[in-house]
Amino acid sequence: MRSRKGDTTHFPMGRSLLDKVWELHSVRPLDSGQTQLFIGLHLIHEVTSPQAFAMLREAGLPVAFPERTFATVDHIIPTTSQARPLADPQAETMMSALEKSCREHGIRFFGPETGHQGIVHVIGPELGLTQPGMTIACGDSHTSTHGAFGALALGIGTSQVRDVLASQCLAIDRPRARRIEVTGKLRPGVYAKDVILHIIRRLGVKGGVGFAYEYAGPVFAAMSMEERMTVCNMSIEGGARLGYVNPDATTIEYLRGREFAPTGDAFERASRWWLSIASDPDATYDDVVTIDAAAIGPTVTWGINPGQAIGVDEAVPSPGAFPGDERPTVVDAYEYMGWHEGDRIAGTRIDVAFIGSCTNGRLSDLREAARIAERGKVRSGVRALVVPGSQEVARAAEAEGLDRVFREAGFEWRLPGCSMCLAMNPDKLKGREICASSSNRNFKGRQGSPAGRTLLMSPAMVAAAAIRGEVTDVRELIGGDRHVRELSGGDRG
Ligand code: SF4
Repeated sequence: MRSRKGDTTHFPMGRSLLDKVWELHSVRPLDSGQTQLFIGLHLIHEVTSPQAFAMLREAGLPVAFPERTFATVDHIIPTTSQARPLADPQAETMMSALEKSCREHGIRFFGPETGHQGIVHVIGPELGLTQPGMTIACGDSHTSTHGAFGALALGIGTSQVRDVLASQCLAIDRPRARRIEVTGKLRPGVYAKDVILHIIRRLGVKGGVGFAYEYAGPVFAAMSMEERMTVCNMSIEGGARLGYVNPDATTIEYLRGREFAPTGDAFERASRWWLSIASDPDATYDDVVTIDAAAIGPTVTWGINPGQAIGVDEAVPSPGAFPGDERPTVVDAYEYMGWHEGDRIAGTRIDVAFIGSCTNGRLSDLREAARIAERGKVRSGVRALVVPGSQEVARAAEAEGLDRVFREAGFEWRLPGCSMCLAMNPDKLKGREICASSSNRNFKGRQGSPAGRTLLMSPAMVAAAAIRGEVTDVRELIGGDRHVRELSGGDRG
């Protein structure tokens, strides 16, 4: 038995974080083979909650645990003016409906007037709501972000949002565990975004189906919490049900002093427990994948899913290079994106640059992008947007003068929200525009134009593309002589 002084829970050795947290939250096995899982934290937003609240009303049910439920507005909110009523009547209707539901059910709502509004996966961690060992659910695919803290964080659909509102439980299949170890040290100019794009490229967009990804090894251990969030955020793009990093001293220091984190002795007790739920050294996994950090370079997507990615110094692969069953998707991507055999990704002209989203809209992302932005001006003809992930990120960035750096370089400095990640607000691509984007999905039409084209990359790479007007190896701008951590000065976010 593991025995750490002050621990309140003891686990037999040889267990992963997935084993421990799953067991602690299992209410009972269901006849279907699924587990009834208790959800510690439910985050809601304006898009997937209205129907769920309507179903609750129809059934005459209250919200079971309003004190475990928190709301914000992110997808539809404009980034130019958030004055009420919102300019788009449909957006105003959705926001008003969420406000009303929160009032009716006693749910805390982080609207713009609170100073805590932002993308749901940005505000949960920065408020200290997201904590290790929790089960977390949200009606959004990228809920996996919260796994960076050693939580089991699940993106759910509207009917499941209803279930969690009504019962604080989910009926869910237990995933298998795959440990992904990245060994060695990242090379200069290689960021967390490159790591996860490389993983998805290697394992495929369906490679994680049925799995929880445990990210382990020296590269993740050395990452800041914000970098870990970038990695966990895109677990879902690799098909995994969730992704997590084991809690450690970095996790604890990030949470210390946050608004909803425990304080005083309670924080110290919680910290000991958080460390105890990390995977044991002799934990067993259904699969283990090892990747050498030296093999990872600045990475860019060329296709219509995040697995269609290459190093910035590579040519777009020929459809003939893929196995027969993958070829139709590759040909589709080739035609949609307009590639020709032998095209290289570097030098691809862009029309729009977007820095933001729950993947890369945090303070450290903006710092890295600003360090590139201050080396030039946005190329004539390129529309460049910086959208902070939350009001707190915006305040911190403005206090450091990052907004001024971006504005002077020719970027637009916007108000917080999802913005052009999904383009449910007015921030949209037009026609066949090509966007260098720090977001997480490059699906057809994702950024608001049915013909729009998205190239996913790190925020620093987006800033480089904005300045040069074309996909650029960021190492040319940073001289390739300093590591991201030295550039950023560590995790101050
Ligand atoms: S930023 Fe994009 S992926 Fe993240 S919550 Fe918003 S729409 Fe979803």
